[in-house]
Order: sequence, then structure tokens, then C-alpha cells
Amino acid sequence: MSHPRPLKEGEYVVPHGVCVVCGHHFDLASNATGERGPQPGDASVCVECGDVTFFDEEMRRRPATPEELAEMPEDAKRAIAAIKLTNKIAKATGMTYSERFHK
Ligand SMILES: [Zn+2]
Repeated sequence: MSHPRPLKEGEYVVPHGVCVVCGHHFDLASNATGERGPQPGDASVCVECGDVTFFDEEMRRRPATPEELAEMPEDAKRAIAAIKLTNKIAKATGMTYSERFHK
């Protein structure tokens, strides 16, 4: 497949997918460092629940292995923990994470 194309600065169109943990539908991805679009082998974090997957060669997401999760950089682990905490707070207020940032 072709490489993901930028929709707007920092956001890239990727094949439609559904989070296996929370059911969130997605067709966009952004790069936490903002340097390039996602590529095969990159980690992907669900914006709704913080579940970690990896892009395969077709840019579909596959579940992360326990080894891959353990090998993630500490700053990525902290960012994922922050997403999970933010989502908990958002649920307590009756809004999803993406609803909070797309209004
Ligand atoms: Zn999710």
C-alpha cells in the first residue's frame, strides 16, 4: 500500500480500524514527535483507551506482544499511562477523550 498521506499538519490517514479493547473506530493517526507519518512497525496508541498496537506491513494494527510492551521507551509508557488516566477522568465526566478535544 502507499504510505499514509497527511490530512492536515500532524495527522495522517490510515486504513480504517477498530480498537479491539474499546471499540473506538479510527482512520487517522498522528506522530507524538511530529516528524513523519506512521510506518509499518511503528507503535500506535488508541486515543480512547490507551491500548497499544503495532502497524503491520499493510498499515493495519496488530496487538502488541508482552515483550514489545516491556521494551517501549519509558517516556512512551508515561504518555500511555497519561492517556489512560485522562480517559478515566473523561468517563467520570460523561465524555470520551476524543469528544473533549473535538468540540
Ligand atoms: Zn481503545
